[in-house]
Amino acid sequence: MTENGDCCDYCAMISEFIDGELPPDLCALLEEHLASCDNCTIVLNTMKKTIELYREDEGIEDLPEGVKRRLFTTLSLSDYLPK
Ligand SMILES: [Zn+2]
Repeated sequence: MTENGDCCDYCAMISEFIDGELPPDLCALLEEHLASCDNCTIVLNTMKKTIELYREDEGIEDLPEGVKRRLFTTLSLSDYLPK
């Protein structure tokens, strides 16, 4: 893997993504990258879990529903979606 430079950029996007502040076009870019990058997927999961520890119930509910569903489907994390 020689994508570390790119990954730095994506890591910055991930925190904005979790905050719900990432523009839709960048969300799409990020999702595309996450689908093929284990490193960034791990970063996302780690950040998300950390944030959940603080926000408990609110947590991922801050993400727009459509974005959340698409991302979680991409990452096979549908267990995290509200039932
Ligand atoms: Zn990456």
